[in-house]
Amino acid sequence: MKKTTGTDRSISEKWRPATRAVRSGTWRSDKGETSEALFLTSGYTYDDAETVAARFAGEQVGMQYSRFQNPTVAMLEERIAMMEGAEACKVQASGMAAMTSALLCMLSSGDHVVAGRAAFGSCRWILDNVLNRFGITHTAIDGRDNEAWEKAIQPNTKVFFFETPANPTMDIVDLEFVCGLARANGIKTVVDNAFATAALQRPLEFGADIVAYSATKLMDGQGRVLAGAVCGTDEWINGVLSPFQRNTGPICSPFNAWVVLKALETLNLRAHKQSENALAVGKFVESKVPKMLHPGLPSFAQHNLAARQMDAFGPIFSFVVDGGRDQAFAVLNALELIDISNNIGDSKSLMCHPASTTHNNMGPEGRAIAGVEDGMLRLNVGLEDPEDLIEDLDQAFVRAGV
Ligand SMILES: *Cc1c(COP(=O)(O)O)cnc(C)c1O
Repeated sequence: MKKTTGTDRSISEKWRPATRAVRSGTWRSDKGETSEALFLTSGYTYDDAETVAARFAGEQVGMQYSRFQNPTVAMLEERIAMMEGAEACKVQASGMAAMTSALLCMLSSGDHVVAGRAAFGSCRWILDNVLNRFGITHTAIDGRDNEAWEKAIQPNTKVFFFETPANPTMDIVDLEFVCGLARANGIKTVVDNAFATAALQRPLEFGADIVAYSATKLMDGQGRVLAGAVCGTDEWINGVLSPFQRNTGPICSPFNAWVVLKALETLNLRAHKQSENALAVGKFVESKVPKMLHPGLPSFAQHNLAARQMDAFGPIFSFVVDGGRDQAFAVLNALELIDISNNIGDSKSLMCHPASTTHNNMGPEGRAIAGVEDGMLRLNVGLEDPEDLIEDLDQAFVRAGV
């Protein structure tokens, strides 16, 4: 390896974001390969016993075991950190491994969390079913309501945990206000940025402490692998999260890391083109349905806030049809091009019915609180020609009587 500790950060830091996405975190081996190498290895060998002893003693930099470090995984960590503007990043096996690790590393028994109530189902599940078993309580609030964040703070509140835009209602949290409020009260913010990625929104610029990802979504963007990432300060990532991961093992496989690493080279292009397509398709859908939830449309209640903190509005939006679950199912079943799928961020357009899939385990009351209506459909707009997507939706709406 030319550099076992990565590209020179001082060089990488001079680059603009598009360059970082392609170049940061490239460690060339002595073979001079153009494309980043896939180090599919669990272990490492050493020239002598002194070397391995020095590495285990932390006196020498270098690989020891792929649960601790792997060159391909490290390249991905460096690239994500540089794109995010973070001091450091660790990647995990999935988005949920990332969220769970981040929360377990920040919280102890007796602590309290304030969480946005519109959230990915499994994020809510961790709060309700895991953290509570260890005496960690939480208050779920309407993340759009700045006052609600303030009112929910207790003396033992340690973490604000939210996503923005949130799944599937596209609720926007005011990053500057909420992160500032947290700072003023000694509370850490953990922002799930899966819907936007660093290509469209960088929460650290607004004062967030931790940015956590499902890299499965827009980062891979081609529906191939699961992966997660957590970004933050060098001190916290390397001093707190890294030992936790090393000893508990939610690590990302080198193969999956390599797939995401190569995908990041096109993330900016995909995120912006899919955002543009989602606006074109969204304008058409808005003209046909009674309720539209797309942060990029002027009709969206939080459009101005979204425009302030996002570079573009992303590939995902939701809408509601009048005829409830039956009519929503009829739309899905009439689609000829767009696939029925609960995944998002993909370059293929995908649609799902959140109430019966991603938000099914919340129960009807949970869905009512989170604003997930029976007639709601969520669409991830891909890289197809938007005119083809509009034609497909048009014929599906006609057949479903929308
Ligand atoms: C998908 C998703 C997750 C979970 O990520 P996985 O990679 O599926 O484990 C968490 N948060 C949000 C907002 C997501 O969309």
